[in-house]
Amino acid sequence: MIRENDLEALLTGDKSTAEDLFRRAREKCLAVKGPEVLVRALVEWSNVCRNDCLYCGIRRSRNVPRYTLGEEEILDCCTRAWNDGVRTFVLQGGENPAAALRLVPTVKKMRERWPGAAITLSLGELPFTTYALLREAGANRYLLRHESANPAHYASLHPAGMRLETRLACLQELRRLGYETGMGMMVGSPGQGVGHLLEDLRLMQAFQPDMIGIGPFIPQEGTPFADRPAGSAEMTLRLIAILRLMLPEANIPATTALATLLPEGKKAGILAGANVVMNVYTPENERAKYDLYKGKVNV
Ligand code: SAH
Repeated sequence: MIRENDLEALLTGDKSTAEDLFRRAREKCLAVKGPEVLVRALVEWSNVCRNDCLYCGIRRSRNVPRYTLGEEEILDCCTRAWNDGVRTFVLQGGENPAAALRLVPTVKKMRERWPGAAITLSLGELPFTTYALLREAGANRYLLRHESANPAHYASLHPAGMRLETRLACLQELRRLGYETGMGMMVGSPGQGVGHLLEDLRLMQAFQPDMIGIGPFIPQEGTPFADRPAGSAEMTLRLIAILRLMLPEANIPATTALATLLPEGKKAGILAGANVVMNVYTPENERAKYDLYKGKVNV
């Protein structure tokens, strides 16, 4: 268990506070989730996006060659992953409602071909009817980071018109449709303070997501936040550990952003209470174009 009053001390306390926190989280993870690390196949489906999020390397206004994988390419990626023993496919991409709708038959084929696999989507905010069609087609998990639980901070990270309220409504609807639902945020995003992180923790405690994605913010050239400092890997690890204690059953990946900032970051994440890694199965020729942030590693 974790007490509300302790949260700030756990985030800001000294090295020994952190070491103790990581140990407790590791023990909790072992007791609740067991000794296995779960592997997901990340297929970066498309970098075409209608949004202009200030932090993101595939934002609409950034000059980057665009691609969208076709059905055959997606099925090839999944086949490679399946043959490697991976049983969860994650299709992630920019927010593109028309193209997301065209994924419905692809998801149906994936479901027919691999009845026992988990199919996770991470395609941003879509019309509820599209979420429903994708769910009927066989998708069963959806990742949509809330990015910030504070409405003003959320607004400062996103273009006018994007609102926290909308994002939370999407998360509620995804849950209602029977998706296992994932949320999360970047650590050290511009303007974020410890108070914001406490709000993020409280929001997740209230929502009880099935999955939690947390990684450090990493600046990307050609975005409004290009010159902002990266987030802290250590703070990311503390948040992973706190969330493991707060939501023991959640699936929490040691993210690629963490591994990009910290050598052996995936291992550090697992030792702080994460139980999932996401391996990239995107075709080699497109990988470099899904450049959310600077120096993204493919481990
Ligand atoms: N379009 C989908 C997928 C977004 S990419 C969606 O909106 O959910 C997946 C995640 O990458 C985002 O949720 C964001 O938290 C993270 N991300 C984007 N830019 C980043 C950056 N510069 N540094 C670290 N993480 C970033």
